[in-house]
Amino acid sequence: MTQKGNIGVTTENIFPVIKKFLYSDHEIFLREIVSNAVDASQKLKTLASKGELQGEAGDLTVHVSVDKEAGTLTVSDRGIGMTEEEIDKYINQIAFSGANDFLDKYKEDANAIIGHFGLGFYSSFMVSKKVEIITKSWKEGSKAVKWSCDGSPEFSIDEADKTDRGTDIVMYIDDDCKDFLEEGKISDLLNKYCKFLAVPVAFGKKKEWKDGKQVETDEDNVINDTKPLWTRKPADLKDEDYKEFYRKLYPMSDEPLFWIHLNVDYPFNLTGVLYFPKVKNNFDLQKNKIQLYCNQVFVTDSVEGIVPEFLTLLHGVIDSPDIPLNVSRSYLQSDQNVKKISTYISKKVSDRLKSIFTNDRKEFEDKWDDIKIFINYGMLSDESFYDKAKSFALLKDTEGKHYTFEEYQTLIKDQQTDKDGNLIYLYAQNKEEQYVYIEAAQNKGYNVLLMDGQLDTPMLGLFEQKFEKSRFTRVDSDVVDKLIVKDDVKKEDLSERDKTILTKAFQGSLPKLNKVEFMIDSQSLGESSAPVVITQSEYMRRMKDMSKLQPGMAFYGEMPDMMNLVLNSDHPLIKKVLSDAQAVAQDIEIPAPEPKEGEKKEEPKKDIKVELKDTKVVSQLIDLALLQNGMLKGEALNNFVKRSVELI
Ligand code: ADP
Repeated sequence: MTQKGNIGVTTENIFPVIKKFLYSDHEIFLREIVSNAVDASQKLKTLASKGELQGEAGDLTVHVSVDKEAGTLTVSDRGIGMTEEEIDKYINQIAFSGANDFLDKYKEDANAIIGHFGLGFYSSFMVSKKVEIITKSWKEGSKAVKWSCDGSPEFSIDEADKTDRGTDIVMYIDDDCKDFLEEGKISDLLNKYCKFLAVPVAFGKKKEWKDGKQVETDEDNVINDTKPLWTRKPADLKDEDYKEFYRKLYPMSDEPLFWIHLNVDYPFNLTGVLYFPKVKNNFDLQKNKIQLYCNQVFVTDSVEGIVPEFLTLLHGVIDSPDIPLNVSRSYLQSDQNVKKISTYISKKVSDRLKSIFTNDRKEFEDKWDDIKIFINYGMLSDESFYDKAKSFALLKDTEGKHYTFEEYQTLIKDQQTDKDGNLIYLYAQNKEEQYVYIEAAQNKGYNVLLMDGQLDTPMLGLFEQKFEKSRFTRVDSDVVDKLIVKDDVKKEDLSERDKTILTKAFQGSLPKLNKVEFMIDSQSLGESSAPVVITQSEYMRRMKDMSKLQPGMAFYGEMPDMMNLVLNSDHPLIKKVLSDAQAVAQDIEIPAPEPKEGEKKEEPKKDIKVELKDTKVVSQLIDLALLQNGMLKGEALNNFVKRSVELI
């Protein structure tokens, strides 16, 4: 009954097209062929369960095997098989109109082409010079047939010698694709694409160590878990099951913090488990850890557009037959179903976090440091997530206490409202480095937040947008009395002349630091405060912090740090420096430059010259302030130590 014919494609020859355009992604052929085998096996199972099958279904394991000598890769199933008519209908007559247009449009996206046109089977030609289908249908009295095609649009169908029901797909691997005959390669691909298929898939036999050698056993080497965790009922699962599944997915990761079991069947189908990973440091953060499946077949680990951007940092699995996988990414993002899925996942995540917060606040607080980055990222990038998260997101103070936004507002309202009715949130970014300032603020009855997270700088900006009449100020952005200005009265006890004399006395001893500039100012800070305090204005510092995160702001990063050196005019040591300086202060005149022709010569400028006999005390005071800020290093630190010894 030999039959010969042409494959029903309208394009001249589809195979070169397949090879050319799909080349980059050609490993997916294995997924296509194995999942066809699994489909056929599942269909058989259904027939058997309906009682339509004569005889036994038997073992339905799909077998993948490599024959290096023959140069073949074979996938065999015991599924429903195909009759000659079915081969003609499903394999020969591929609907393929407007093929060129389509290929042009989607040439980057192999998935799109393959899925869209049901070319799953034909993807085998990406790696094969010849493919054979040897198949026998489950139907009573059907004859086994062998379809064969060498990559031209011509095929042949012959009778075949096959007694058992099912299909063998025999791929004669191309010379330039020989790596698909390597056991290791096939094993890797099966592990990537077929790990959770619903019917057992065996690749060779299990091996064991015997007499110092690996030898094959009789047992099939089944490479998949046919009932992965996300397909099971949450009620039947224990914490340990979730953790174990996580270890299977990410053997190198620490135990996850939380997980969320997703399970929807209306208005779309979606199951999955998402995990909040424990990140040791921010370098660990990685997108594309979530795996996307379609009926347990691995599709991709790039889920952008399907889950909200901030959740791409999570780990886990999403499985949905309703995500249109075979379309371009831009189409995906505008798809209504996909939008619903994204909204759903975002809501599920915030609901879950909220419920942990409500039911076990202690656990939530304990894990806050680890989950903070996800929640902050979500709040920054997704308005609707912010609205949900604002009731459970936390602020942590330098003492390690946690507060909700509302709780914190109540806490600081009385002490930290300024004269204009603004609530001033004080924060530190480093508990050690800003210790002195934190302590000073606390002594004044203020609370100080710890904002040392990777996303805290942009969070400050977000909070200032969202919280009414609120400002965030770092504890060292001004002397403690001025951090929160409560009245307009300005205590000014030094005359302008004395201020200038004091400034001059310190100016000559200022250290030369790379990219740091100092402005000297004197203020009355009380006798018990430090003689010299270094501060840095909130605005400039924050701009510089932001510039590290946003390339567009690099300009700010280039600017020097502007620091204020505040001299406490109430302190006895500063008073002493002032009187020494007054004693040597000289009024001088700086002559104006020679005028250009026709212009009048300007008056000389008046100035004061201060040359202290001994600058040790001044240098010592400056260095102590620098030391408190961690700014005294290298040679300067060495000089300080030497000078200190001399003074003792
Ligand atoms: P799709 O799987 O998207 O329908 P394919 O090109 O992969 O497209 O397969 C076309 C058809 O060929 C399938 O729908 C199925 O009817 C049939 N087929 C492919 N592989 C097998 C198999 N191993 N056993 C039985 N039928 C198969």
